[in-house]
Amino acid sequence: MPELPEVETLRHDLDKEVGGRRVKAVEVRAARVVRRHRNRKEFAGRLVGRKLGPASRLGTLLLLDLDTEERAALVVDLGEGGRLLKERSAAPVDKHTDAVMTFTVGGDLRALDLGEAGELFVAGEAELDELDERRRGALDPLADALTWQAFNARLESRQEGLRALLTDPTFVTGIGPVYADEVLWGSELRWDRPSGSLAAQEVRRLHRAIQEVMQEAVRLRGTSVGDAPWLDLRGNKGEYEPHLNVYQREGQPCRRCRTPLVRERARRGETTYYCPKCQS
Ligand SMILES: [Zn+2]
Repeated sequence: MPELPEVETLRHDLDKEVGGRRVKAVEVRAARVVRRHRNRKEFAGRLVGRKLGPASRLGTLLLLDLDTEERAALVVDLGEGGRLLKERSAAPVDKHTDAVMTFTVGGDLRALDLGEAGELFVAGEAELDELDERRRGALDPLADALTWQAFNARLESRQEGLRALLTDPTFVTGIGPVYADEVLWGSELRWDRPSGSLAAQEVRRLHRAIQEVMQEAVRLRGTSVGDAPWLDLRGNKGEYEPHLNVYQREGQPCRRCRTPLVRERARRGETTYYCPKCQS
């Protein structure tokens, strides 16, 4: 599932490779992905003839501005495992493709595997403001400058295990199972430590680890693991995987203390990886 570094990598690439292109045609192959619109034709009608970009991000939503008189943007919600792919128009269309947007100067942008949760929609000014408002409730580790004192106040207002809190999109945006475990290892904290029980020094470590892990993962263009790994706009894997310290490394020695890492069930089918010695 794309987490924040993967979405940010896509935002960067969209801005560079799709920004400034004009839409010639839109083909929606799966009607459910444009469910906010009356029908596929109405969705396409709002995009054809429009120039796209710049690209921005609201939490884990991707936005491509449209050159309309009133502010409007194409919004992409990747859902659980959605992908965007920039292709030559002549390239065969994969059967998992939900929508294809063709540009006037050649090439197209394809949305794949959006599933039940993912979607595409054109949002006007009021809807964009509403999305922005909703996003503000959660900390964005890449966009928000947050002091550790402010972070501490937010932590104290919640009483949850740290991993549950880190993966809660109303607390912080875009941290899923991969980066939650990495952040906790980086801060030497256990996944089930209650958020209200941290000493000041531990809050500092957690605050720093969130930013360090997310920034490094963006620099290395995300993490591609598992059977259906995340791929960038050109179909390439991210390069963060060799830097994973705990995720899917059970039985291997901790890079800090050499203790074998363990894998444990966290909650409802979720698994966590951590060092039983140096995370406490
Ligand atoms: Zn260790």
